[in-house]
Amino acid sequence: MFREVWTSAAPLRWGMVGGGQGSEIGYIHRSSACRDGGFKFVAGALDVDAERGREFGVKLGLSPERCYSDYKTMFAEEAKREDGIQAVTICVPNFLHYEVSREALLAGLHVVCEKPLCFTLEEAEELKALAIEKNRMFGVTYGYTGFPMVHQARQMIARGDIGDVRIIKMQFAHGFQTHPVESKSAGTAWRVNPKTSGSTYVLGDLGTHCLYMSQMMVPGLEIEKLLCTRQSFVASRAPLEDNATVLLQYKGGAVGTLWATSVNAGSTHQQKIRVIGSKASIEWWDEHPNQLSYEVQGEPVRILEHGMDYLYLDDEMTASNRMGSGHSEGLFESWSGMYRRFAECCQKLDGGAKLLDVLSGTWVPNILDGVEGVRFVEHCVESADNGSLWVEYI
Ligand code: NAD
Repeated sequence: MFREVWTSAAPLRWGMVGGGQGSEIGYIHRSSACRDGGFKFVAGALDVDAERGREFGVKLGLSPERCYSDYKTMFAEEAKREDGIQAVTICVPNFLHYEVSREALLAGLHVVCEKPLCFTLEEAEELKALAIEKNRMFGVTYGYTGFPMVHQARQMIARGDIGDVRIIKMQFAHGFQTHPVESKSAGTAWRVNPKTSGSTYVLGDLGTHCLYMSQMMVPGLEIEKLLCTRQSFVASRAPLEDNATVLLQYKGGAVGTLWATSVNAGSTHQQKIRVIGSKASIEWWDEHPNQLSYEVQGEPVRILEHGMDYLYLDDEMTASNRMGSGHSEGLFESWSGMYRRFAECCQKLDGGAKLLDVLSGTWVPNILDGVEGVRFVEHCVESADNGSLWVEYI
């Protein structure tokens, strides 16, 4: 790793639930978790099809006896081993997040779970309480926030470079589901089915990324109320939305908009955030992650490039900078930066520290942020389904 600042203790023995062959996100978890030596992949219940999961696990280098048919067997059998797993990543369709996370915490494991954390705020709060009680790390993979320039933005906003924050514009607006592709794509089919996706599609799938990005860049931002409208432009997806717009009012007077859509025809990702202050604006776009646009009113636009000496890099930024200047940096780097921090948290907890103390002393998307994602989605649904009313944010 660039500058080699990561000195790992022994890697955590790590298993996966989901992420089988051909899954969208399994490979990125495996490569990011193991890249800096924080985790060692030793066991898995990788696939809903047990045999396919076993074959794939063996191909990935797991011992055949540690390729399990289901997660319950994996947790039970691994607990009997002296070298059993210490941590698990859960990257299965949304409807399984709550039950697998709960079982994993009860089995004494550190947990990394996909977003959206679960279906209801009640379940989310229960997982939070359990993680605190068991003192186990609980990461949630809002993986775009490991990019160095996102951290740069956070520092500049905190330092007052843009003045007082007035407006936050967020969007995650791809076009991959402009047509009813779910007839051919299993990965889309479960996302547009309430039984497997929950009460929302794009609000949970994309909107929670935007929410966490805004909270990461502007810490302390508290939503006072929101108004949401949602549509199913491909009618067969109803009641789940493929397009949603949220108006946000924050405590202290700032306002925001969030657009989440999967029917932005012609667009590949278009995940952007623009934070507008009383002096200047900052904008970051995930398709150009090495750059940050810094726009001071009355001055030429500055495009800041990661890794350059003119940035004000602190230790956290330096550790995130894996490539040096001039080299392209990608999503794997962002995720690897996140997994490195997950591993550090697990090790601190294993050394006797308390979960909430560890989380307050570091940036890393975690159970508290997972809960916020679920809270946000619930309020959006309440607003949208009641004629797009303003709803108080509690
Ligand atoms: P997918 O449909 O492509 O893959 C799901 C995988 O889970 C498959 O390998 C399937 O066989 C396996 N699986 C299903 N049920 C299982 C069970 N009971 N036990 C073991 N394995 C099982 O889905 P995906 O796109 O990889 O999404 C998985 C999760 O990751 C979702 O929650 C999704 O929201 C999330 N995701 C997050 C990001 C991100 O940026 N953080 C990106 C993509 C997906």
